[in-house]
Amino acid sequence: MTGNITFTMIKPDGVEANNIGPILAMINKAGFKILAMKYMRLTQEQAGSFYAVHKERPFYGELTGYMSSGPIVAAILTKDNAVTDYRKLIGATDPTKADEGTIRKLFAKSIAANAVHGSDSDENAIIESNFFFSQLERF
Ligand code: UDP
Ligand code: MG
Repeated sequence: MTGNITFTMIKPDGVEANNIGPILAMINKAGFKILAMKYMRLTQEQAGSFYAVHKERPFYGELTGYMSSGPIVAAILTKDNAVTDYRKLIGATDPTKADEGTIRKLFAKSIAANAVHGSDSDENAIIESNFFFSQLERF
């Protein structure tokens, strides 16, 4: 059950810069399959629920404002060791610290506008996937 899915978003900066295609290409090339996908815009309230774990952090207001500032692509990805391997593919939260060749190194604009989200645990991958997708939307 656990270990083979992760949840990702291409954030508003990634969409705005026309990087949906290049980012999806990297995801597929790294061996992930797309189990579910949608293109949508979050309200600030929805972004706030998604990032509720960060409610007490100083960047919470900026983060939820930013995540609701334009459309995003949400997806469930599948692969063995999906969470760990996807965190490796996206790189560090701060793009100046991200390894060469990672999605954030290549596409992120800043620590806030950092191109993509990736789940940090199997448990959160399931919670985050359920936030966006019903069973009928998964293939
Ligand atoms: N973030 C921010 N400033 C910070 C830390 C994080 O704006 O100092 C934003 C950034 O967009 C990040 C998100 O909040 O991706 C969630 O933070 P987290 O620590 O979970 O990083 P991630 O898991 O996305 O690497
Ligand atoms: Mg995180």
